[in-house]
Amino acid sequence: MNHFKPYNRRAFLRRGLLLGAGMVGILKSGFAADKKMNVMTVTGMVSASSMRNTLTHEHILVDFIGAEEINPPRWDREEVIKKALPYLEEARNAGCHTLIDCTPNYLGRDVVLLKQLSEKSGLLIVTNTGYYGGSDNKFLPAHTFTETPDQLSKRWVHEWQNGIDGTRIKPGFMKISVNPDHLSEVSLKLIQAAALTHLKTGLTIASHTGPAIPAFEQIEILKTNKIDPAAFIWVHAQSESDPGQYVKAVREGAWVSLDGLNSDNVQDYLQKLIQLKKEKCLHRILLSHDAGWYDPAKPDGGEFREYTALFRKLIPAMEQDGFVEAEVLQLIQKNAENAFSIGVKKWKKKRGA
Ligand SMILES: [Zn+2]
Repeated sequence: MNHFKPYNRRAFLRRGLLLGAGMVGILKSGFAADKKMNVMTVTGMVSASSMRNTLTHEHILVDFIGAEEINPPRWDREEVIKKALPYLEEARNAGCHTLIDCTPNYLGRDVVLLKQLSEKSGLLIVTNTGYYGGSDNKFLPAHTFTETPDQLSKRWVHEWQNGIDGTRIKPGFMKISVNPDHLSEVSLKLIQAAALTHLKTGLTIASHTGPAIPAFEQIEILKTNKIDPAAFIWVHAQSESDPGQYVKAVREGAWVSLDGLNSDNVQDYLQKLIQLKKEKCLHRILLSHDAGWYDPAKPDGGEFREYTALFRKLIPAMEQDGFVEAEVLQLIQKNAENAFSIGVKKWKKKRGA
């Protein structure tokens, strides 16, 4: 019944397998195989290898009220836990071990809630720092418009150094959002702040981006700051209709996040993966659902989408199509480890680049 069982066993063997079959990807990605990699979860720092099967872009709670009105929080944690916990437990039953929560500050990030849910569900959960600049800047606090990238970065670095909202819970990556066209002034400021923060913290930048144009503009800004595109996750890349752009981003070294998976679009995702495998790009692809979430504006949090299609639908479809275990594990384990491991990724100009 559960196609996923084999990956939950033989953990030791699996590591060996990956070091064989996945070595090309690891070397390509510029991470030394013997370098110790760590990730920051809401329950503390752990070795990246303990993430295992990871959903790299999900949400547990999102409040769309806007930055001006979000405080104090409008939700009852007990109610949210009652609603969300069964979905997290179901994700765990399906084979998930780690969930990256992509709800940023001013959109409902609640790290105390995330920690409670991590402890109750047994999933590792990772939270973020950074600001969300899409949606006509509705989710940006007023100081974003007056402060410099350096000042914004100081706020994010402060969360990394001291913890979030008076807790000791620290971000494991940055989540920003930019407008879906040539970068606006504010979007430019956010990616510049993210670049400065990366250099001080080693946190990876996951940027809600969509189409290719702003993705490559952000990659350029990172390179001018001497940051390797390996520090950048192109979030919602599935909004870009030309798959050739994914290949181009992978060749640059960036992470391409195909994160809108659900039970109705499994074949579409499978076709994308078949193409990316042909192009030898699997070592830079992240998969997730962008599912969840409890919405405080709706009765009982509204409709909650589940986090299981990857494990229950897409992976069996990949296996049927001839994807081997090492390729599946590259996608759901190794890539997440490499993408979210903490460390400054310096860009060295390549010949001809
Ligand atoms: Zn999202």
